[in-house]
Order: sequence, then structure tokens, then C-alpha cells
Amino acid sequence: MAEKRDYYEVLGVDKTASAEEIKKAYRKKAIQYHPDKNPGDKEAEEKFKEAAEAYEVLSDPQKRQRYDQFGMAGMQGAGGFSAGGMSMEDIFSHFGDIFGGAGFDLGDLFGGGGGGRNRGPRVRRGSDMRVKVHLTLEEIAAGCEKKIKVRKLVQCKDCNGTGSADGRTETCPTCKGSGRTIRQQRGIFGMMQVQTECETCNGEGTVIKNKCPKCGGQGVVRDEEIITITIPAGVAGGMQLTVPGKGNAAPYGGVNGDLLVLIEEEEHKDFIRQDSDLIYNLLLDMPTAVLGGQVQIPTLTGEAKITITPGTQPGKVLRMRGKGLPQIDQYGRNYGTGDLLINVSVYIPEKLSKDERKLIEQLQDSPNIAPGTANKKNFFQNLFG
Ligand SMILES: [Zn+2]
Ligand SMILES: [Zn+2]
Repeated sequence: MAEKRDYYEVLGVDKTASAEEIKKAYRKKAIQYHPDKNPGDKEAEEKFKEAAEAYEVLSDPQKRQRYDQFGMAGMQGAGGFSAGGMSMEDIFSHFGDIFGGAGFDLGDLFGGGGGGRNRGPRVRRGSDMRVKVHLTLEEIAAGCEKKIKVRKLVQCKDCNGTGSADGRTETCPTCKGSGRTIRQQRGIFGMMQVQTECETCNGEGTVIKNKCPKCGGQGVVRDEEIITITIPAGVAGGMQLTVPGKGNAAPYGGVNGDLLVLIEEEEHKDFIRQDSDLIYNLLLDMPTAVLGGQVQIPTLTGEAKITITPGTQPGKVLRMRGKGLPQIDQYGRNYGTGDLLINVSVYIPEKLSKDERKLIEQLQDSPNIAPGTANKKNFFQNLFG
């Protein structure tokens, strides 16, 4: 295992740094190495995690004291904290605390929307994109990958997203790089100072003299991209999946928006879906309902044989356990599988040959053919029981 770097070094702060300085330093690193900004970049991801781990320790007075005293050795199993054991989820979960506001929302973070003082030039976030995918029940049962083509804003390759033809940007002369200007405004209590986005640089803090001809200085261009979306088994129509960082690119090297995938379910020729159960309507011929036998029915994984017991009544519901759809909770975790419910009805023939008619007529007077009270009761029990 590679030796861990000193936490202060990771965040680039002094050993005497204040809590506020540590927070600021971490915020900077988190933006720099954010996975949305560095898709597929393993090194950036490691740096991102490393910074989160350093912040986890240095932002907690007790842990920090322990670290100052014992170094890395003091971190092994200290108070339930195992260094290096943070998942990306853990990291995102404490973003709310660092960036203010509840939860983690890059839109609030980087977008306009006021908030924190002295934020300096802002980092832009691309807009989210919405797409629909149509899935068959078979695809939902097994989970699948869908490749979709989207037209979206991507970083301009000619200028690496800078918008500048020569790669040069200059500090904005109006706001001196802060992205904000202060202006006097008349309010109900007299003149007030109002901070607004700098109009010269649109809040970027920099201006481009020599604009990239391909993107017109925007840093982004419209292009097609083929995106592979992994659909977990058990999703349902109306659900929305988020693919982080696959939405529109932001101008000037900002953070990508997300791709929001709306699930639509195609109708199935054999089954009706009821949550995780599937319903199949089986029409039995009269002799099989009376005598019993085996019939083939479709399932999502191929044909299956089921046994019909003699004297099966219309309205009876047969259940094949585990032949439905995967059950998932709101986090996409599987907790079981639904059933296939077979609704039995019996086909009563409408056209008869002479011989067939004779046979039925012979049966008509037979004592077991007339529905007795017991039979009636069974029938209603099957329907409503
Ligand atoms: Zn400016
Ligand atoms: Zn360009």
C-alpha cells in the first residue's frame, strides 16, 4: 500500500490553519478533482478521495488533535474512523456542510443564486438533459444496457473548453477577476451597495481577447454522443435514473450537468404488470378444466408447463412463485422477486358439430353436471376468497 501523504500537505494548508481555512482549502480541491469535472480520470478520483479523507480528519477537532499528536498511526481504528475507508457516497454526504445548504447540489454550489460571501469567480454547471428509454418487460426483468444517441453541448476540442483561440485569458478589467461588481442602488432606506455579477465577463472573472472560431468563445459546441445507460433490473415506468456528469457541458471548463433518464414501459403481449407481479390470463379448454392435465404457459424466461388439477373452476388463480419481476427499493437494491399469477378462465365452445352436440346433450342430464350448492360456494370462494 502506498504511503499516505500528510493531511495538511494534501489540502495545502499550514499546520496552524483555522477551521475556516481548512474548509476553504478542501472546497477548492473538491471542485478541482470533482468526478463530474474529470470523468474517467482515476488519478483525479484518488485525489478527490484523498482530499475528502484529509478534510474528514482535519475538520473534526478531536481527530485533528489526535492526528497532530500521533500522525497517521493515531488514525488506525480511532473512534470508528478507518482512514481510507470512505466511499464516494460518504464524501458526497458531507458536501452539504461544506458548501452550505442541505445535501449536495452542484447547481446551488456553482450556479448564481447568491449565498456565501467572497466566493470569487464562479464555476459554471452545464444544464441537465432529459431522455426517455422504452423497455420491454423482459429487459426490466433482467436489467439491461441501453445505448442512446444524444445531441448535447460538449467541450470544444479546439480550445479545450477555454473559449480562447490562443489559450490565453486575461483578468477582467472591470471586476479585477472577482466576477462581481458593487454598485449603488436606491432602496427604501436610501442608497445601498449591491453586489452583482460582473457584466463584462458574465461572472467568469476573466475575458477572452482572441475568441476560438469554432465555438465563438463559448468553450462548448453542440455534438452527438452515444451514452451507455445501465438499467438495473426491476425498474418501472415513471421512474427516473440519474447518470451524473452526462448532461450538457458547461462553458469555460465548468462541471457537466446530469443526464436524467425517464423509464417508459412497453406493453407486453402476454402479461399485465402489477408492481412486481405479472398477470397472465389463461383460457382453458373445457375437457382440461374438467379432467385436469398439463398446459404450456409463457413466462419472461421462456415457456413453462403447469399442472391443472381435475375440476379447475374458472376464476381460479394459480401462482408461480418467483416468476415475476425483481423487487427493488428506492435505492435500487433488490429485496426479492414477484410472482406470476395465472388467472384461469374456461372456454365454452360456441360452434358444435352434430356429434359434439349429442355428447353434450347426453351429459346434460347426468347428476354431476348440474351445479350444486357446494360448487357454487367454491366458485365464489375462488373469486373473492
Ligand atoms: Zn468581470
Ligand atoms: Zn472553442
